[in-house]
Amino acid sequence: MGALPLTDYGWDADRDLQFAPFRADGLIPGRVVRAERGLCELVTAAGPVRAVVPAHSGKDRLATCTGDWVALRPSTTSDAATVAEVLERRTAVVRSSASRTSHGQVLAANVDTVVVVVSLADPVRPGRIERMLALAWESGATPLVILTKADECEDVSRAEAEVAEAALGVDVLVTSAATGEGLDALTDALFGTVVLLGPSGAGKSTLGNRLLGEDLLATGAVRTSDGKGRHTTAWRELVPLPHGGVLIDTPGLRGVGLHDVDEGLDQTFAEITELAQDCRFADCAHITEPGCAVLAAVETDRLTQRRLDSYRRLQRENAYAASRTDARLRAEQRRHDKHLTRTIRAVKNSPNFKQ
Ligand code: ZN
Repeated sequence: MGALPLTDYGWDADRDLQFAPFRADGLIPGRVVRAERGLCELVTAAGPVRAVVPAHSGKDRLATCTGDWVALRPSTTSDAATVAEVLERRTAVVRSSASRTSHGQVLAANVDTVVVVVSLADPVRPGRIERMLALAWESGATPLVILTKADECEDVSRAEAEVAEAALGVDVLVTSAATGEGLDALTDALFGTVVLLGPSGAGKSTLGNRLLGEDLLATGAVRTSDGKGRHTTAWRELVPLPHGGVLIDTPGLRGVGLHDVDEGLDQTFAEITELAQDCRFADCAHITEPGCAVLAAVETDRLTQRRLDSYRRLQRENAYAASRTDARLRAEQRRHDKHLTRTIRAVKNSPNFKQ
């Protein structure tokens, strides 16, 4: 593959301005198309590069994920290309990791559009859509719901209405890869860096390949240089779209858990957030409290019980994820304290220590 200009990968004037001091240091910009521990594949204006990611740069911890923009120190005859700095992430899709540990995992950085992919071949599951939308809003990107397999659904308008109730304030597009329905509208609706979220079987790969116009998601192999003249074959998880924009598809995006999505939930359930401002108590949990405006809205059919139940369920899930994060931070603090105690003891016992 020949080198494309970085603007094809989402580089813009603001980034260019931000990059001036790095450029003055002899660094070049690149975007991460695939990240591993301590290594990443990048695209640069000169073509693909494989670079080392040191654990730290000065006092900052360095870790890259697909979609990051970095300042790269190019390879020399003796040294491999090295990531010197990860540029500020404008947005980040984060989930609690599949192993159910408490670390939030950044799945994709600098995403503009998060597409929630929902198959019309199956019954609509609003709670699942709301969970994905909470994650999408929390990322800072603009969510969009794409309904796939319209040709396999008997009552599209009913399904669409069910989805619309769960996707308040979000555009919903009906598509079918089989008939081509909605695919042009989809191309128009996407902008910038795009990720597709959704369970397996929702039709994400088919949709992705239609957007790419070829089977790149299945065959995204490229040859990259590791800076020492060796060439390796690697998978790209970030590819430019023929009509502009970039598609990110990482394996991590295939499962979704909530991680610290307070704001995302507020946006997903914007009508509840607004109603809650009229609750008598500021910390109202909308369960049995007197003067609860949210419960009153359910009583008068201005809010469905289903929406409220889903909101509560996702809030509990989010609170659980947050409590695990707190537990991890406490455990890390304990380890740090223990380590410090041991270090102090070792120093005191050393022959060079004078009291
Ligand atoms: Zn309330």
